[in-house]
Amino acid sequence: MPQLGFGVWQVPDAEAAQAVGTALEAGYRSVDTAAVYGNEAGTGKGIAASGLPREDVFVTTKLWNGPGERWGRDNVLREFDASLAKLGLDYVDLYLIHWPRPMRDDYLAIWKAFEEIAASGRARAVGVSNFLPAQLERLRAESALVPAVNQVELHPLFAQAELRALHAELGIATMAWSPLGQGKDLLTRPAVLAVAEKHGRSAAQVVLRWHVQTGNIAIPKSVTPSRIRENLDVFGFELDASDMAALDALESGRRIGPDPAEFDV
Ligand code: NAD
Repeated sequence: MPQLGFGVWQVPDAEAAQAVGTALEAGYRSVDTAAVYGNEAGTGKGIAASGLPREDVFVTTKLWNGPGERWGRDNVLREFDASLAKLGLDYVDLYLIHWPRPMRDDYLAIWKAFEEIAASGRARAVGVSNFLPAQLERLRAESALVPAVNQVELHPLFAQAELRALHAELGIATMAWSPLGQGKDLLTRPAVLAVAEKHGRSAAQVVLRWHVQTGNIAIPKSVTPSRIRENLDVFGFELDASDMAALDALESGRRIGPDPAEFDV
């Protein structure tokens, strides 16, 4: 799985093909979508129109496990089929449970269906998103299948050190959503701007380079072609220990997005 991918949350379906096309042309080989983004069809069109061999593009999508009652095998298999159909693919590289929704207590039943999907080969790998330590521990206790990744909110303002340590122990890759902090406050922090100026790079590039050196998989989103290219161009420079420490010091302990312990759909 490429360490940098292209995220398409909030990209309208009608614009997704073009955005994904721009990203693939720029050199991205990993695309992150989800059923709830409503743009799996456009994403699939962009991949098809690129002319790249299917095996060259790593495609991730996510189960929208809701709304309503507790979910089980039938709902999951139905939603997975629908996602493949919209994407126009006969397999995805990675399929994720989008949110654990612990108050519904159905993520274990969903995971059992994911085991089945993984065994069928129609998802080359399966994983989770927004899972907290207690939920990862429960999967460890109840399933022989380790999630390939846990995709969570992660950026220098919320770096998830404890969760990353647990991932390392369990053999789960850490995938960072909102890696640029949604392009808000983070990219104008003096510490980020100072490191950017030192390296003659943009704030976004410095933050993405921090992800690369921290060992995260990151999936920045943009629909602006120049930014799409800029965000992938982070392999030609290196942050030194003092740069990394300056970015690490931005930890605030605060999320931008919802708390998975409370988020329901
Ligand atoms: P992000 O951190 O990638 O920020 C995106 C925003 O940053 C853009 O809309 C733009 O305003 C700005 N930006 C992008 N490139 C820039 C640049 N070079 N210079 C300046 N500003 C720039 O935020 P995101 O879209 O929330 O997260 C990325 C991806 O993560 C999503 O598209 C989606 O695929 C995934 N995601 C997953 C979950 C989940 O629950 N699993 C939740 C949120 C996002």
